[in-house]
Amino acid sequence: MRAKSETRVIRSSRVALPDGTRPAAIVVDGSSIAAIDDYDARADGATDVDLGDLALLPGLVDTHVHVNEPGRTDWEGFATATRAALAGGVTTICDMPLNSLPPTTSVDALRQKQAAAGGQCWVDVAFWGGAVPGNLGELPAMDEAGVVGFKCFLLDSGSQEFPPLDPAELRAAMAVLAGLDATLIVHAEDGAEISSASGQDYSAFVASRPPKSERRAIEKVISAAAGTGARAHIVHLSAAECAAMIAGAKGAGIRLSAETCPHYLFFAAEQVPEGATEYKCCPPIRDAINREALWRALEAGVIDCVVSDHSPCLPEMKAGDFGTAWGGVSSLQLGLAAVWTVAKARGRSLDDVVRWMAAGPAALAGLSSRKGQIAVGRDADLVAFDPDASWEVDAAQLLQRHPITPYLGQKLTGSVRRVWLRGIEAETGGSPLGRLLTKPRE
Ligand SMILES: [Zn+2]
Repeated sequence: MRAKSETRVIRSSRVALPDGTRPAAIVVDGSSIAAIDDYDARADGATDVDLGDLALLPGLVDTHVHVNEPGRTDWEGFATATRAALAGGVTTICDMPLNSLPPTTSVDALRQKQAAAGGQCWVDVAFWGGAVPGNLGELPAMDEAGVVGFKCFLLDSGSQEFPPLDPAELRAAMAVLAGLDATLIVHAEDGAEISSASGQDYSAFVASRPPKSERRAIEKVISAAAGTGARAHIVHLSAAECAAMIAGAKGAGIRLSAETCPHYLFFAAEQVPEGATEYKCCPPIRDAINREALWRALEAGVIDCVVSDHSPCLPEMKAGDFGTAWGGVSSLQLGLAAVWTVAKARGRSLDDVVRWMAAGPAALAGLSSRKGQIAVGRDADLVAFDPDASWEVDAAQLLQRHPITPYLGQKLTGSVRRVWLRGIEAETGGSPLGRLLTKPRE
């Protein structure tokens, strides 16, 4: 037994456990969860926190965050992004390999990322590598160095230093990754189905990137996954009509998963004001009928997780019109409340939200042995959450570098009250307790 001083007990009448929410006492020994006891179990000598009716959730895992440091830290950096994450109940982020300079497409670039992030992370941070034309030979070494998987594009990424793979390159990359048992996550839009759009009219922008552009790209991913046996994942699914195809592929035993994002579940195209480029992202936020169908695909388990695709830029890059503005919605701090606001109204439970935003993403990134669930042996990443609090999003609350987001002024339900990171209470005004994670080895 360790000294009692390292032990703390956190109690709540609503602990979101893997088998459902119930009253419990979580015994934390050092950095990990040592036991799950009855709510009123005695704990001599331990620090005791009784949250009463505040819910206790596992820390969220957000596998889709563009931090942009080094190189474009003025867009978003590790200090600002991870403080926003902490405030939003996200205790682990996985950083995307593009928009930083250099992009994370080599071991050397990964080392530069890790060096840049070191000492200024308020939550734990893992890294995706990038698969781009010509770096196939780097993938095994990057896997060995601890990236949690690889990302590729099938069309222009918007960053010229991160070019897309053609269908032959996609298949070649998947063949290499199948041998490594590493996952390829894919931005699935087909440039051949996309037209250019400009101006202040959001509906013209949506029409320029139709569901068919997602469908054609996902077909290529499914085909390559089926042919190579690799594990593939569709990032930011927007077109709900693709859910049937994804369900079919899963049913046929193809190793495929999919995510969507809070903004596709919260907003609808009909409500986007003229010229409101803070809503611009690719693929686009579609209409309310599509949103309802996305929710049903999520509730049916066809979509596996909900992650932010937090992708900020300089404020001046969001100016202009729907043709010229940077595509990206910033919501790292708001995702939990945004999803819960709608989920609660639909009669879903906190268990559902935890499955979509903690356990699901942890599994995608291969981090389930430590993250994503309140279970014995896992890291004690815990979030005290008031599921009934109602509040309005105000720019002054946002800890991301630039307070630009379509959620400004929105009324949300559910508020993060306290967060523990590996057993230590973590505060945005405190010191950075986050660690850099590598893919766990058996
Ligand atoms: Zn992204």
